[in-house]
Amino acid sequence: MNLDLLTVYGWQGLTLAIWVALCIGSFLNVVIYRLPVMMERDWREQAEELLAQTDSDTTPETPSAPPDTSQPTFNLSVPRSRCGACGHQIRSWENIPVVSWLFLLGKCSACKSPISWRYPGVELLTAGLTLVVLSIYGFTWFGLATCLFTWTLVALTFIDYDTKLLPDQITLPLLWLGLFANGFFVGVVSLHDAVLGAIFGYLFLWATYWGFKLITGKEGMGYGDFKLLAALGAWLGWMTLPGIILISALTGLVYALVRLALRRQSTAESIPFGPFLAVAGWVTLVFRDSVLGLFLT
Ligand SMILES: [Zn+2]
Repeated sequence: MNLDLLTVYGWQGLTLAIWVALCIGSFLNVVIYRLPVMMERDWREQAEELLAQTDSDTTPETPSAPPDTSQPTFNLSVPRSRCGACGHQIRSWENIPVVSWLFLLGKCSACKSPISWRYPGVELLTAGLTLVVLSIYGFTWFGLATCLFTWTLVALTFIDYDTKLLPDQITLPLLWLGLFANGFFVGVVSLHDAVLGAIFGYLFLWATYWGFKLITGKEGMGYGDFKLLAALGAWLGWMTLPGIILISALTGLVYALVRLALRRQSTAESIPFGPFLAVAGWVTLVFRDSVLGLFLT
């Protein structure tokens, strides 16, 4: 099913869709940057609580230190964004997706230090991928669900690239949403195939992880990777798993070889696998028949 977005929705509809997608991309930038910081603060707080508890267990006479409430609030909306170099608070006109970055020529309005091209890059990427998905599935319930799928993968890709983490806060809802979409919206596969996809996706990488660890004593990937492949299986069905694994392994290998050739990486350094799983999952959503065909011909 291929829709010509322009003829179906007109200029106004298409412009609106692009604008909304750019704004979503802008929100993804916030998630990519802030969620890992929020998680780290959370872990720190829990570790401190645990330490305070063990302290009070061993020396019951001394009252444990009061919980540290001095940390200022930090979540997706508070505090407002600031320039990393000078602390200048980003005003709303400086926060318009892509447009502001171009207008400011990629520099902070106060201190003129460069603003990474990745901010408009993520916004443009989000808008581009959204248009591709909408041109295939249209403004249907499943089309909207696949938009969510796409946006989530964009966030996971950059978070894993930056921090080598795939947060449960994102991978697990993605998994449930995949089962839900296939169960209720008449997605691309039956609920049965989706459930099997989630189970086999998780088990395949889990078994690979333990096999690798038993043989080499090293950890080849993280638990986040199992959950992400489980989520992709839930969205796309168990039969796409071999294709997803093949595409992610090949693209990961090419990436590693290119990095080695450019001498930007030592052989010992690990590469996060999540971005390649995400790319393979998205490619499989869009070119489903070709990916399935890899193994049927
Ligand atoms: Zn600045």
